[in-house]
Amino acid sequence: MSKRKTIIMPCSGIGKVHGLIAREATYAAADMANAETLCLALLVSGDKDARAKIKDADCIAIDGCPKLCAAKNVEMAGGRVVKSVRVVDSFRGHRGAEPGTATALADDGWKIVREIAADIACGLGKSEVK
Ligand code: SF4
Repeated sequence: MSKRKTIIMPCSGIGKVHGLIAREATYAAADMANAETLCLALLVSGDKDARAKIKDADCIAIDGCPKLCAAKNVEMAGGRVVKSVRVVDSFRGHRGAEPGTATALADDGWKIVREIAADIACGLGKSEVK
């Protein structure tokens, strides 16, 4: 098993509920798996410390939509994406879901957050879901 640090990187996704789910799922997964996260904007702006951090880590990207801003920018910064999650895919098992808005999640949105986070935590060997 890799001894590299794990960084969970969400996309920015401002203005879309998918982006809010990506960020909340990042916090939940990082909490469950005791992993780190990093500001995507800092990485995109070329911050030296952020780039160094990303190069030494295995990254799990959580993107709101198929544009994959987090995954692509991690790779462009020289990072390694070991898992790429698309929030939009998580809706497939939730037809008719009402996830909330870009600024506030409803119950269905939180349910999707917990599913994404649990899947990531499980993949990192942390099966306990809070
Ligand atoms: S992946 Fe999609 S939702 Fe996320 S920042 Fe890019 S365009 Fe926005």
